[in-house]
Amino acid sequence: FFITFEGIDGSGKTTQSRLLATLLRDYGRDVIHTREPGGSDGAEDIRRLLVEGDPGRWSPETEILLFTAARRDHLERTIRPALGAGKVVISDRFADSTRVYQGAARADLRGTVDQLHDLMIGQEPDLTFIVDMDPEIALGRGLARESGEDRFEEMGLGFQEKLRAGFLGLAEQFPDRCHVINGNQSPASVSGEIQSVVEQWLS
Ligand code: ATP
Ligand code: C5P
Ligand code: MG
Repeated sequence: FFITFEGIDGSGKTTQSRLLATLLRDYGRDVIHTREPGGSDGAEDIRRLLVEGDPGRWSPETEILLFTAARRDHLERTIRPALGAGKVVISDRFADSTRVYQGAARADLRGTVDQLHDLMIGQEPDLTFIVDMDPEIALGRGLARESGEDRFEEMGLGFQEKLRAGFLGLAEQFPDRCHVINGNQSPASVSGEIQSVVEQWLS
């Protein structure tokens, strides 16, 4: 099974994806927790090119290529081998982030994102959790975040609102795999909502 976590910056993806990995391990499943951009040696190198330095360094088009290159390596080296070995793969972000950040929020390039995805990736998750929350609260969580790496903090609330709308749009586009989770609650309550979806889905 391939499960992804998506949502705006600071919404709780890293926290919740780790909690789900722990839960499924407790159920006796063999679980790999991974992330994007990154998740393999090569993709982590590309991540550095993306998150370190001036956020305006890459054009939106170049960014799409870099994210797709990183994803291809992640897929070849980490995701496909694990799925092939019968493991559960949980990824903190995947292709939906590129559809929203590069395809809708930073630029209007969804068609290009989709073409490259079809050509080079072609993998969709079985289950996607979109952790939805108030962008203002998410921004407030800002500096305390797990990764400490943020490319868009300076772009502020308007950008985060665009991202939120983009993720909610994807949930409508892919209703079979996407579950919108209310992130404006305690970590334990968010995790409880996710757990009930996963339990239903596994049964
Ligand atoms: P990013 O997009 O920047 O990677 P994220 O979606 O992975 O962010 P987290 O790193 O999980 O978000 O959470 C952001 C911050 O908010 C962290 O400091 C985390 O401890 C805290 N946090 C996570 N979930 C909650 C919650 N439900 N309520 C309050 N604080 C939370
Ligand atoms: O989720 P994480 O904090 O690891 O992401 C690192 C940075 O990359 C964040 O600033 C996030 O907004 C950005 N990002 C992006 N486009 C994506 C995925 C992440 O700009 N497709
Ligand atoms: Mg995170």
